[in-house]
Amino acid sequence: MRSTEIVVIGGGASGMMAAIEAKRHGASVMILEKKPKLGKKLFATGNGKCNYTNRVQNAECYRSENPAFPWQAVSQFGCEESIAWFHKIGILARDRDGYIYPASCQAASVVRALEREIRRLQIEVHTEEWAEEIIPSERKKIGAGRGYMIRTNRASYLARKIILSTGGKASPVHGSSGDGYSFAKSLGHQIIQPVPALTSLILDETCAALWGGVRVQGSVFLYDEAGELLCQDTGELQMVSHGISGIPVFQVSRFAAREAARKRNVFLVVDSMPEVSEAWIAQELQRRITYDGEQSLGDLLEGMFPDKWIGVLLKKSGLLIKHPAKSLSQEKRSVLVSSIKGMRIKVKQVSSFEKAQATAGGVSTSEVDVSTMESKLCRGLYLTGELLDVDGICGGYNLQWAWTTGYLAGRASAGKDAE
Ligand SMILES: Cc1cc2nc3c(=O)[nH]c(=O)nc-3n(C[C@H](O)[C@H](O)[C@H](O)COP(=O)(O)OP(=O)(O)OC[C@H]3O[C@@H](n4cnc5c(N)ncnc54)[C@H](O)[C@@H]3O)c2cc1C
Repeated sequence: MRSTEIVVIGGGASGMMAAIEAKRHGASVMILEKKPKLGKKLFATGNGKCNYTNRVQNAECYRSENPAFPWQAVSQFGCEESIAWFHKIGILARDRDGYIYPASCQAASVVRALEREIRRLQIEVHTEEWAEEIIPSERKKIGAGRGYMIRTNRASYLARKIILSTGGKASPVHGSSGDGYSFAKSLGHQIIQPVPALTSLILDETCAALWGGVRVQGSVFLYDEAGELLCQDTGELQMVSHGISGIPVFQVSRFAAREAARKRNVFLVVDSMPEVSEAWIAQELQRRITYDGEQSLGDLLEGMFPDKWIGVLLKKSGLLIKHPAKSLSQEKRSVLVSSIKGMRIKVKQVSSFEKAQATAGGVSTSEVDVSTMESKLCRGLYLTGELLDVDGICGGYNLQWAWTTGYLAGRASAGKDAE
């Protein structure tokens, strides 16, 4: 059986970072990657442009059942350190309102730079080889002293240390199908139930059939079934047939998924004009009616919203598009204003892991050392990236999490041996 110092399981964002840092610090490293290529998911990030970090950084950008953990980690290796790290291997940063992309605007440049560094450092890479089982060597009475046996689809290896970088469950087409949870569980770790994050919502709403393709600048408020506000966000809402998408929806989706996993209902309130008050809208409608009461209700809202959205707002208010504006009673006007400022819609379902960009939940961080990413339960086992119970908001934070944890684990694993 081959024996090596460190085996990195998973050659995605955090695994590549970890392998490079471990090798730079003198360890011999082998990467096992399930897919035919390293970093397959990275190619798809940021719509092919790779939003690899963000200059706006604070504790609220990261979510976990153990909320202090992510920020303590990111404070050790954050945005500026990541920008400098990537600069060293050839990636110049382009700053777009704080969102950081490679100057080439190509995710492929980031993957190729990481691959080049892996080649330059002569790190051994095995693609199309996946871990199937991890056994502490003392349990099997194999190998000398501490360490792990890793059984793959092709061979078995003995490693002094393992860096587990298999990702979460989001976008399994890119290789991350949740294998890491079973490994971590078999080694005694607690798993916070993984649910999809940064994804769209499927709605229980008859009007959804009308709005496919509409984009509205608005706010979404997500409430639990008791009416408590769980999360809110503002930006471009993208209406899709039978659902709603766009960055604000992505931001609230992990809370909806968490409630759904508890078999609880959630509902959304959509504000189609967040920048003005109800009173302002009521006054504006009155002004328009006084100016031209003969125009239709559809025309009354023209210039305020996209056409399809006008149809939705009127339908939700029980009004007909062709009716004259002057027929709008005081009472109906209030209903219309409420639909504009607070359209209530029941969420039927959260889109699946196949469509999600991240996973909320994962290996409990209370069992992980925040300075090294080493398991507190299994010496010599390090955990990185999305596999851990940390999810970033949309905007480069999930990759920042991958760089932070990969960096810390890589360096620490190359250090002094586990006693
Ligand atoms: C479409 C899309 C766009 C995104 N855009 C952005 C963005 O712009 N900015 C941002 O910050 N985040 C973005 N993300 C999220 C980000 O890509 C992930 O959070 C990040 O890649 C996670 O890194 P990771 O190393 O934990 O896991 P991954 O990058 O998922 O890597 C895990 C690797 O482990 C391998 N693997 C799994 N099981 C095994 C096994 N048993 N043996 C061997 N190998 C295994 C997989 O094949 C995979 O290569 C996006 C995600 C998606 C899906």
